[in-house]
Amino acid sequence: MYLNISMIKCKHCSGKNFLKKGFRKTDNRGKIQKYFCKDCKRFFTNDDGFYRMRNKPEIITMSIDMYVSNLSSRKMRNQLKRHLSHKVSHVSVLDWVRRYTLKVHKFIERQGYNLGNSFYADETMINREGKLDRFWCCLDWDTRLITGFHYSLSANPIEAQEFLKKAINKGKPKYIQTDAGVFYPRAFRKLFYSNKIGGLVIEHKIQNYQTTRVHNYRIETVFMKIKDRVIDFRGLKALWSAPILMTAIVIQHNFIENHSTTDEVPSERAGVNLELGENRWLDLIKVASLNL
Ligand SMILES: [Zn+2]
Repeated sequence: MYLNISMIKCKHCSGKNFLKKGFRKTDNRGKIQKYFCKDCKRFFTNDDGFYRMRNKPEIITMSIDMYVSNLSSRKMRNQLKRHLSHKVSHVSVLDWVRRYTLKVHKFIERQGYNLGNSFYADETMINREGKLDRFWCCLDWDTRLITGFHYSLSANPIEAQEFLKKAINKGKPKYIQTDAGVFYPRAFRKLFYSNKIGGLVIEHKIQNYQTTRVHNYRIETVFMKIKDRVIDFRGLKALWSAPILMTAIVIQHNFIENHSTTDEVPSERAGVNLELGENRWLDLIKVASLNL
């Protein structure tokens, strides 16, 4: 993606009346364009997300991409050392993942999505230092976009409600299908049926494996992928860190990787086209940084 000049604005006054004026030399990122604002008469540079970082954006985004898709932070550190003679600590890798995940998440939550009518919701247990946390996830069948997710310490109707609110944040389906989890019916009643005055009604479909012998294959392939990745997620130890790393997995699914059946990136299928190039994390961070 080529950065669009219309995204640039003055850091001091948000004005768009500026000139290109010289460069600032940096240690790790070469020369950076400086601008002069004609409104407030001050100089500024653009923070493309990597301002004052001690490593090259390419190293950082490669680390994030590989960490989230399959490599532990320690293995990533070793790869960098072996192939690029580049020394970073595994803690830096984790810090990068968390820092940029938060930034990108904030930006993509503000985009408009075109989603279908059938959502599939499921929850999975996450073993965090012997405690069984829950990761709730809702998928739109048409686009395979993860519409919303929720991280909690237990499964009950209150947490199910919190999850469902997030699940319909990007689109309003005709129905949401869940498994026979006991906490869902009450959560659906509370959210979609007790408010009789013009309230949003979303049908609750229950896929009961015990009676139908049919698994929820649609969403299970996505969940398998997530479960596979979580197994060696070492940064999942701390409660503050775990939800952020799960967010990174969701971004990877929605914005970075082509879905195996549709051969398209779910966010693009949902009409969110940010014109990201080959290095999608890099462009996503840039576009998020310039637009936050
Ligand atoms: Zn200005």
